[in-house]
Amino acid sequence: MRIAVARETREGETRVALVPELVGKLTALGYTVAVDPGAGEGSLHADEEYLEAGAEVVEEPWRDAVLVVSVNPLDSPVVRRLPGGTATVSFLPVNQSLDLVGDLRDCGITSFAMELVPRISRAQSMDALSSQSLVAGYRSAIVAAGLLRRFFPLNMTAAGTVTPAEVVVLGAGVAGLQAVATAKRLGAVVKAYDVRAAAAEEIRSMGAVAIELELETLEGSGGYAREMTEDRAQRQRDLLAPHIAAADALITTAAVPGRRAPLLVTADMVEQMRPGSVVVDLAAETGGNVEGAKPGKVLRIGNAQVWGGANVPAQMPGPASRLYAQNIVNLVTLMTRDGAYAPDFDDEIVTGSCVTHQGVVRHEPTRTALEGPLETTEVGGPS
Ligand code: NAD
Repeated sequence: MRIAVARETREGETRVALVPELVGKLTALGYTVAVDPGAGEGSLHADEEYLEAGAEVVEEPWRDAVLVVSVNPLDSPVVRRLPGGTATVSFLPVNQSLDLVGDLRDCGITSFAMELVPRISRAQSMDALSSQSLVAGYRSAIVAAGLLRRFFPLNMTAAGTVTPAEVVVLGAGVAGLQAVATAKRLGAVVKAYDVRAAAAEEIRSMGAVAIELELETLEGSGGYAREMTEDRAQRQRDLLAPHIAAADALITTAAVPGRRAPLLVTADMVEQMRPGSVVVDLAAETGGNVEGAKPGKVLRIGNAQVWGGANVPAQMPGPASRLYAQNIVNLVTLMTRDGAYAPDFDDEIVTGSCVTHQGVVRHEPTRTALEGPLETTEVGGPS
């Protein structure tokens, strides 16, 4: 049975779904691995490395594959050429990909979305949202340090003492905590805030200061945050304003699953920052935590440079690909029995991440968005 590694077509995508180092894990499971020529180029893996690792390098590797793996979903024209019954594993942002999901359904493709892998302990090794957030969080702190034209750490020299930079991180999930840890390692004084109660302890365990606001916490389901009401959002902004005005670098990473990123910082608040300040908004692609931030752009708002993140994990393609590939290998391993691809649809990880299977959209919110609510037929009244 063949697993195909697709070459990414999204502009600026440098990651690859399988690195040469992990080819052996799939061949040991009983698969052959076929890689699209040049698939690893963006993450600096040459075709020869895949060959040496035991893969084939062939044009259109999906032709005879049971499984096609990629970072981003395959394009519709490729999907339409896949034999029915082929499975795909990739990120698949269902809300923004309804036409593609319709094609996957109509072509009888079984599609799995990495962002739908349930966040349960057994699935941690398959959690690509976490692995890519880790990369993005690290990168956000490095970008802030690079843009800021002063030291992060305290420097005590014969010529005098230079005080450390103050970094504020908003949103202390996977990316935010990694930003906190990285800024701390670089020597900055770090403060962070998150709406979830559990986050304060995690922030402190990194040696940073947890900003405490007199506001109710917002726990949602599955360890995620809930959306704020506009009134709470306004109170949060008012209470955070002095912390932001005092920061040399502000890094924002806040998100609520399935929603636009919460607006945490207005342009007015950025204008209160000192000359030379830096803002890094990791949520710029999903609406932005910072008013005016644009994905892939560095803008000036007041005295600050505002950097908007765009596909940030792809800016560190080596580790991002390595971690993503390990997530993929772990998921494929779960779906393999006796050397063959045989997903168990009674397993909550398999069912939870499945979007389409055998001509049906199995992810209910996507099915409703695509096909409308299920029709119910009245079979009689209460007797
Ligand atoms: P995420 O990317 O959805 O959100 C990032 C952070 O933004 C979260 O910490 C959230 O609380 C915060 N946030 C949302 N609204 C905010 C606001 N208005 N102001 C400030 N912060 C706000 O979340 P994530 O980083 O992917 O995960 C969040 C948490 O989920 C983790 O810290 C962890 O506790 C849990 N988690 C569990 C597992 C698992 O069990 N397998 C895996 C990953 C994450």
